[in-house]
This record gives sequence, C-alpha cells and structure tokens, in this order.
Amino acid sequence: MAQEEDLLDNWLHEEWIVCPSCQRSLFRIDTSPMDHERYLYCDRCPIRVGISVYETEYQQLSHLFFAAQENEEHDHEAFSRAIEAHLQPCTCGGTFRYDAPRRCFTCFAPVITDDPNGVDLYPDEDVFEQELDAKRQERLERWQAQFCPNPENKWKPLSK
Ligand SMILES: [Zn+2]
Ligand SMILES: [Zn+2]
Repeated sequence: MAQEEDLLDNWLHEEWIVCPSCQRSLFRIDTSPMDHERYLYCDRCPIRVGISVYETEYQQLSHLFFAAQENEEHDHEAFSRAIEAHLQPCTCGGTFRYDAPRRCFTCFAPVITDDPNGVDLYPDEDVFEQELDAKRQERLERWQAQFCPNPENKWKPLSK
C-alpha cells in the first residue's frame, strides 16, 4: 500500500543520483507533460535553454513545418530537429539538443546519457520550492544565471 502511494506521488520519477565522476548528488526529474516549456541541453556543457510552446518563434516554426507536411502523420522527431536547427549556439560553441546528455554542474561530466530526452537535471530540489531562505535563494539564482541563462536572442532569424 505504502509503495503504491509512493509510485503515485512520484509520477515524474524524481530521484537523487550521484555523478559518476565527482560523486556530487544531483536531482533528476521527468519533464512534466503539463509544462508548456521544455529544456534543450547543450551537447558540450551543462547549460540549457527553455523553449515554450507559446513563443512566437516556436509557433511560427510549428506552422511552417506542419503545413509543409502533406500526410496526416506528423513527424515530431523531425520537428524537434528543426527546432534545434533554429537555435543560436551555446556560449561555449555547443548545440542545444533535446537529447544531449545531462551533465554534472560541478565537473561537467555526462551523467544521464541513456535516453535523456524528457529528463531534467538539477543540483537539488530548490527550483521547485515555493519559498527559500535567502542563502538557498541566492544559490538558486546563481545556478540559474550560470546554467539556465534564458538569453534574449536564442533563436536564429527565421528565413522566409
Ligand atoms: Zn560531477
Ligand atoms: Zn554549452
């Protein structure tokens, strides 16, 4: 009984894992299907960029892409690749991808490499907390500024 409740509670598979390289604890969680935003991860460093389905560029791309497809079966895999192709590179020169390995924030080693699409990695659970004490809030903001920068010009100009 207790186990069943745990399963229901933990439907996003929240789990503490350990970096195989530096042994730091990390918090993994599935991307919620209710969320309008998804992260794409750099293929060279732990930086991620959030893309919302409400963004103009996302909607334009979606419109262009699916209008160009003739059959009913939409190719979502190819659409993901089209989104990736329209993002500016990471500040480190890497490419943002849905399925890039999720990396440790301390030593940058790949931590989740097996089917990482739909999984997010955090240093801890602070990002999900409603209220944090000043110290944890500051630490969270520093983490966000470094690894989740949300740049203004993340999209490449759309070619008409
Ligand atoms: Zn590490
Ligand atoms: Zn990078």
